[in-house]
Amino acid sequence: MTPYCELGREELLELKKELTQKYEDAKGKGLKLDMSRGKPSTDQLDMTMPMMDIFSSHCDMKDDQGVDTRNYGCLEGIYSARKLLGDMLGVDPEHVIVFGTASLNVMYDSISRAYTHGIMGSTPWCRLEKVKFLCPAPGYDRHFSITEHFGIEMINIPMTMEGPDMDLVEEYVKDPAVKGIWCVPMYTNPMGITYSEEVCRRMADLSPAAEDFRVYWDNAYCVHHLYEDKQDTLPEILGMCKANGKEDMVLEFASTSKISFAGAGISCLAASKANLDWVKKSMTIQIISHDKINQLRHVRYFKNLDGIKEQMRKHANIMRPKFELVLETLERELGGLGIGTWTKPLGGYFISFDSMEGCAKAIYNKCKEAGVTLTTVGATYPYKKDPHDTNIRIAPSYPTLEELKITAELFTLCVKLASVEKLLE
Ligand code: PLP
Repeated sequence: MTPYCELGREELLELKKELTQKYEDAKGKGLKLDMSRGKPSTDQLDMTMPMMDIFSSHCDMKDDQGVDTRNYGCLEGIYSARKLLGDMLGVDPEHVIVFGTASLNVMYDSISRAYTHGIMGSTPWCRLEKVKFLCPAPGYDRHFSITEHFGIEMINIPMTMEGPDMDLVEEYVKDPAVKGIWCVPMYTNPMGITYSEEVCRRMADLSPAAEDFRVYWDNAYCVHHLYEDKQDTLPEILGMCKANGKEDMVLEFASTSKISFAGAGISCLAASKANLDWVKKSMTIQIISHDKINQLRHVRYFKNLDGIKEQMRKHANIMRPKFELVLETLERELGGLGIGTWTKPLGGYFISFDSMEGCAKAIYNKCKEAGVTLTTVGATYPYKKDPHDTNIRIAPSYPTLEELKITAELFTLCVKLASVEKLLE
């Protein structure tokens, strides 16, 4: 394979002609495929349908502590659900509150609460001249949308293969206006990497100037391994912070959205007692109790952490061939051409692709014109602005293998064509 940058102009023009012909043929096929969102596939959702048979009309709806899940009460969630999610995160159930069906909502509320009422007695952010947030990027678009929604200034923190650039993070937290950092520590969205021990250690030992600075630790993919024998591991952050006498510094979020049903699972916040007490103060105003029937359904279905792990092995059997198909296609079609790099995750929902500078939008548009929708380019950065126009999030979970084959091949064709056009500029 000759890297494209070593080709002369004539060779590039010849190549462009050839690729354009292939692209026109692909366009003629009238495709309509979507690789934009990290949604579980129908197969994965079907797999969890037996959860719907857990209850019948004459079922005992009390949990193991005698709480009638059909009635109000038990604001923190039933104990067995707190234990289930706590075990998943490696956190004591006393430090877990179970919320409703989605964790994004819990994250939004955490920011909203800090904005309107302040964190544990600190000045509400709405009364401050300036509030800033550190945003490791590429990152999860919906995190950035929350902070943008509240008018919080977002600061790009470059991601490395080990996690966020911690030199920069340590520097920025000296500014009292910096109130938080968004983190997806395991199988990150979109890179699929896991923060190293060193990054976690430094994160848990930050010395922020703001007393209400929090690490927003969205552990959405903590059990989402693709392989049995090759798995990333992540240190338990609450314990690490506690060991440093900084246990109030982290708020950890998770859900079963990509374990049971997306947007219809159970979600949680894990944090220090002081943080949970602060959250409960406003929770009592917000809600009388969350859906404990759904909590009990999850507990009865999974039983314990082993039940969750078993379920995730089944998910992996569906996900793994899709990841491998995309990675094989990228390697076969683009390997050695010097026009793109990509991550090779061991878990999670995404592969992150970086094109040559200034090509991502063109690739996105070409795919779209040929009937393949990718995640909107730029979405993985604060304000939807990718400074180098390189990053594309590939989400292989939803399409079938057959669809994915066509999509991945078209994607690589568009990468080649956009790169040749760039080099000819
Ligand atoms: N956090 C991350 C990092 C995600 O990628 C997603 C969904 O894609 C979510 C949270 C959403 O989780 P939930 O459905 O619990 O709101």
